[in-house]
Amino acid sequence: MFYHGRVRVEYREEPCKVALNHVKGMPFGWSLNPYMGCVHRCTFCYVRAFERRADRPSDHRYGTSIRVKLNIADRLRVELARASWAGEHVVIGAATDPYQPAEGRYRLTRACIEVLRDASNPFAIITRGPLIVRDAELLAEAAARADVSVTFSVPTVDDEVWRTTEPGTAPPRQRLRALKALVAHGVRASVGMAPLLPGLSDQPSSLERVIVAAREAGACGIWANLLYLRPGTREYFLECLARDWPELLPGYERLYARGAYLPQADARPAKEEVRRLAKVHGVRDRRTVKLRPPERDEQLSLLSA
Ligand code: SF4
Repeated sequence: MFYHGRVRVEYREEPCKVALNHVKGMPFGWSLNPYMGCVHRCTFCYVRAFERRADRPSDHRYGTSIRVKLNIADRLRVELARASWAGEHVVIGAATDPYQPAEGRYRLTRACIEVLRDASNPFAIITRGPLIVRDAELLAEAAARADVSVTFSVPTVDDEVWRTTEPGTAPPRQRLRALKALVAHGVRASVGMAPLLPGLSDQPSSLERVIVAAREAGACGIWANLLYLRPGTREYFLECLARDWPELLPGYERLYARGAYLPQADARPAKEEVRRLAKVHGVRDRRTVKLRPPERDEQLSLLSA
């Protein structure tokens, strides 16, 4: 048992049978999650919905019991070496934050990146954890061999919204400092403004503050997505909203009355505004050290050398 802030967290060291999960209905085919559960405990976390479906707690107990897949890097090495593995893109952190505090002690994400680097396998990381800076050099090595990218989730730089909706994460500006360090190492790092919360972080002035901060940090790109509320996430998020911003509850109930996603007409303006502001402020890949993965011919000559 450990404490994260005031929350008692149990770490369960349980080996896994497989490292890579085949994913359906997502923009990527394979995911890798060194941990299950996340002590960041964001009120809007979409993983709560997966937990509900798996018959595990998705309410305030979510993030208080973390599974640690101690053998994941060994499994990954075996799976990447299979003849059937075609070197596909792997996303790390789609169902947990791979740089949550446990990573400081267990170093499982780092071990997996070493395996991916050794196999010259492309991958992407999604995180809210500045701890990733520890692995900047390793990520640069991996990026010199294959397509590697990092997305920092930064939906807001407003202290109140951040503290209230992401009780366990590091401050957004600390994440942006981590982004800056990775870009300085030549690693392609971008900002994902997700999820934007209607009435809390989707106003043009809020969007612009994030975009300006991302530009100052040297973000190579920026994109946005609005909150979605599947069963499991929905109940907990609305319960927290009723406690923290009760005046917004009727509006959310109306916006999400027909399903998990906002109607297009309500989601489009904020996304378009993010694209417009990103252009206005010149958010683009400005890395001075640009790592270029070797072309296929070069890879073959390296292999035969
Ligand atoms: S950091 Fe990501 S995985 Fe962790 S609780 Fe927040 S949204 Fe969920």
